[in-house]
Amino acid sequence: MIDVDQAQRILLDNIAPGETETVPLREALFRTLAQPIPCDIDYPPFDRSVMDGYAVRAADVADAPVELHIVGQVAAGTTADTALRPGQTLQINTGAPIPSGADAVVRVESTELSAGGESVTVQTAVKQGTFITRRATYVTAGNNILEAHTRITPLEIGAAAAAGAARVTVYRRPTVAILVTGDELVDIDRKPTDAQIRDSNRYLLESMVAAAHAQPVLLGVARDDRSDLKAKIEKGLQADALCITGGISMGAFDYVPDVLEECGATFRFRKIAIKPGRPTIFATAPDAKPIFALPGNPGGALVGFVLLVKPAIAAMQGGLDVLPNLISTKLAGTVRPIADRRTYLPAMFKADPSGQREVHPLPWHGSGDTFGLAGADALIMRPPRAQAASQGDNVATIALNRT
Ligand code: AMP
Ligand code: MG
Repeated sequence: MIDVDQAQRILLDNIAPGETETVPLREALFRTLAQPIPCDIDYPPFDRSVMDGYAVRAADVADAPVELHIVGQVAAGTTADTALRPGQTLQINTGAPIPSGADAVVRVESTELSAGGESVTVQTAVKQGTFITRRATYVTAGNNILEAHTRITPLEIGAAAAAGAARVTVYRRPTVAILVTGDELVDIDRKPTDAQIRDSNRYLLESMVAAAHAQPVLLGVARDDRSDLKAKIEKGLQADALCITGGISMGAFDYVPDVLEECGATFRFRKIAIKPGRPTIFATAPDAKPIFALPGNPGGALVGFVLLVKPAIAAMQGGLDVLPNLISTKLAGTVRPIADRRTYLPAMFKADPSGQREVHPLPWHGSGDTFGLAGADALIMRPPRAQAASQGDNVATIALNRT
């Protein structure tokens, strides 16, 4: 049995970024850049005003208050047709180009317009450059504003748009086939009878894959039967990755490992020293595609997904820093002592009255309890043989990023 760090090292050694494609900017949301984005222009492209007010020569207003003659107006999107001479000013709007001759802007709040509107009294002196953003202050044409391997969120979309990147080259979204297994499973529109339970993992995993911005491909339910499993696994291996749940424990009908072997898979690890999620398999297909076999219990499936599948999806999309960070957070509540495996517990982040982040363990009946996972936006990670932790202790947490 290996620990999580080893498992994640083995995982990342076996994942390569996939193909790339060039798409319209808006389709790049939540994908990863395969090429840097340069800015095609200086930004700002001209010296521009930060405020609504008056373009002035700083020397003219050094002895404010002074009255200046208004010789025109520069609105955003226009340029002044005259240069500013001593004693003159131009009304200027936010974002408009600074007229030649001017070297500062006085904001409108520091001025008083004459009754006739032909002159303005500037109340305060300003230094050269006041309320002017000089051309190329943010970026010089040709320089990269975003590097390859950057993940695109709405903020990067805004930056790329300003840089004129109408189309961008990103990694393709991988397809992830999802196969649930078990004779006891019925779909969610049925009432389970006798020994049946509802197949919740299909929905959990499908939405986890979608939330990781990959494309889920549903293979349906494989019965605990070798030939059904084999047919569905072979179909799943046409996707970029395969994610199976159930059928990997020590039960008599847990055929998944055998069938994976028949399909030519190479096992990279078969157990991790974690709770929940010990029987978690990572294998690679003959063509090197990643195969995950997660526990059937929803808690184990969630933990395996967060620790392995989600990072793998990000790495397949060219992400570099893909493993979940452990963030030390103040505990609100208590957690019990831990046995010999690293343990993950569902929890919720909140702010304490002073505004500091704290983490609340959620009531949970263990790995079979899907309901106790609902509402969690964090996992508390406790190391092997950790003592009980109580109110105010710092504990390691993983953010589940619910958005
Ligand atoms: P297994 O790994 O197949 O032995 O399954 C372990 C436990 O998880 C059993 O109690 C199963 O009934 C349950 N389980 C397996 N698959 C699912 C699923 N798709 N949805 C919800 N629970 C499941
Ligand atoms: Mg089963």
